[in-house]
Amino acid sequence: MVTELPRRVVLKLSGEALASSASDQTIDANTVDFLATEISSAVARGNLELAVVVGGGNIWRGATGAMAGMNRASSDLMGMLGTVINALALQDAIEAHGRQTRVMSAINMDQVAEPYIRRRAVRHLEKGRVVIFAAGMGNPYFTTDTPAAQRAAEIEADIVLKGTHGGVDGVYSEDPRKNPQATKYDELSFDEVIAKDLRVMDMTAITFCKDNHLPLRVFDLMLPGNLGRALDGHAVGTLVH
Ligand code: UDP
Repeated sequence: MVTELPRRVVLKLSGEALASSASDQTIDANTVDFLATEISSAVARGNLELAVVVGGGNIWRGATGAMAGMNRASSDLMGMLGTVINALALQDAIEAHGRQTRVMSAINMDQVAEPYIRRRAVRHLEKGRVVIFAAGMGNPYFTTDTPAAQRAAEIEADIVLKGTHGGVDGVYSEDPRKNPQATKYDELSFDEVIAKDLRVMDMTAITFCKDNHLPLRVFDLMLPGNLGRALDGHAVGTLVH
């Protein structure tokens, strides 16, 4: 346990966390409900302001289209729109648990979501609403890892929590799915992540966190209760700082 617990937190979850190997659905209702349960019960305990940055990889990744010859910026816009779809699914599921939410989009779409305005985001958080940041940063050539770090810095969050979903419960020396001998790190410095070229988040996000002294915890989001444990300061996953 650490003594000072994070108060304002950005949780990054990948779009693929909303899908499920058990079904062929792009957005699996049971999986989204599981995530909503984890998020709403974590927030219900109080003394926590939670913002979520959701990815879009279950729907579209800009790099996929670019590799097939599409214009990269157009393809990335498609990816950003995918994150909005996921954000709406997550919003609906969290609200079904009786928790207020706001989706704030980096791309203006008035009928769908509020525009992202930093002061408003902070106000929503202060009122106990779960804020879901959609459309990344609104700029192509990024993934949602970098907006997770950037928004966290902007709203003065204490930590970025990166929830994994593929059964890898932290940062390893190598991909443990390929090499079972890979060792897990409990703690790492940003310099070690960079020097060892470890696949934690995109390097842009890692250097951003390093430059802005923003700690990062990588943990298995799909393990029931793990989000609460990470928020309670338990040593789940890997802490990068
Ligand atoms: N994207 C973007 N700018 C951003 C955030 C996302 O262009 O600020 C696009 C990019 O094409 C990316 C896609 O949205 O591939 C989906 O996001 P991401 O790949 O991060 O989803 P995840 O892997 O987290 O599900």
